[in-house]
Amino acid sequence: MKITKLTTYRVPPRWMLLKIETDEGVVGWGEPVIEGRARTVETAVQEMEPYLIGQDPSRINDLWQTMYRAGFYRGGAILMSAIAGIDQALWDIKGKVLGQPVYELLGGLVRDRMKMYSWVGGDRPADIIEQISKLKEGGFDTFKMNGTEELGLLDTSAAVDEAVRRVAEIREAFGNTIEFGLDFHGRVAAPMAKTLLRELEQFRPLFVEEPVLAEQAEYYPRLAEMTSIPLAAGERMYSRFEFKNVFAAGGLSIVQPDLSHAGGITECLKIASMAEAYDITLAPHCPLGPVALASCLAVDFVSYNAVLQEQSMGIHYNKGGELLDYVINKDDFKIVDGYCAPLRKPGLGVEVDEERVIAASKNAGDWRNPVWRHKDGSVAEW
Ligand SMILES: [Mg+2]
Repeated sequence: MKITKLTTYRVPPRWMLLKIETDEGVVGWGEPVIEGRARTVETAVQEMEPYLIGQDPSRINDLWQTMYRAGFYRGGAILMSAIAGIDQALWDIKGKVLGQPVYELLGGLVRDRMKMYSWVGGDRPADIIEQISKLKEGGFDTFKMNGTEELGLLDTSAAVDEAVRRVAEIREAFGNTIEFGLDFHGRVAAPMAKTLLRELEQFRPLFVEEPVLAEQAEYYPRLAEMTSIPLAAGERMYSRFEFKNVFAAGGLSIVQPDLSHAGGITECLKIASMAEAYDITLAPHCPLGPVALASCLAVDFVSYNAVLQEQSMGIHYNKGGELLDYVINKDDFKIVDGYCAPLRKPGLGVEVDEERVIAASKNAGDWRNPVWRHKDGSVAEW
């Protein structure tokens, strides 16, 4: 079997799907994208085509190593996202050829169902109590929300009070009938992280995500030393070579590689396994589309240390497109009592609605992160 064609489709809300075709008619789907830089990743995918066209799609390990090493320069958000989506599509092809779901090819299930959580609150957290109540009725008991709005490098006691008040209200309303993680989203710089962690600790959040930016990962062990809140990070790290240093330095309790950013299934399996050796749990990052989520689940269901899976249903970024818009087998993605079952169809288990994808890709807009400013006019982390 030979790879014959790669086609990318940029679709709303801010995703890109990749279709890889073969000379035997078997087709695989991947999701290579960096949110806000879809066109750049699209070009990177096109630049990798010469390594793929005419090659045997079953040799995923070799194709992965070729894409990673043959360009001399490697790593980073763009190149690793391009590899990620291609890798997913190759696994999808392999599963379809062998008539097995990807998790079977990876050694089989370690669990019967996977714990999922839901985003609440949007960019600027408000009405969270109401949103949680509604989702709770639908069976969710675990949530994630932004911990703060924009926060100055050295912000005021009022800003800290505001962040604390919101979390206090949630615990007051729901007691310990729910769990929630707080995403600092890189908005909190090291000088404020200590204060916030100390103030929030009493509410026992499930975790704090990106307590500081990955660029300041040297703070993770120091922050972990002074708080009992489990610290999470990883959505802005792109290969096991990056994760290696963070694991070795210590501090993280939860690692969150993104299956569409960190080299795909092939790489994230290795990252998951390295994390297990350090007693670090796995909670793959996934505010993306159905193929990315299916890839996450393939890794979750074979990784003992997988504890939580993010998913983007109803997430505040999804303007103009929802997770299941491009899926035919929507029922397979049903979340029951906060859990998702293995996707049992061969390959990644997503029947992509190709007509819908093609239609949506026509005149698809370019999603951009908002640019936030501090009161003094300087740019703020979003
Ligand atoms: Mg995050």
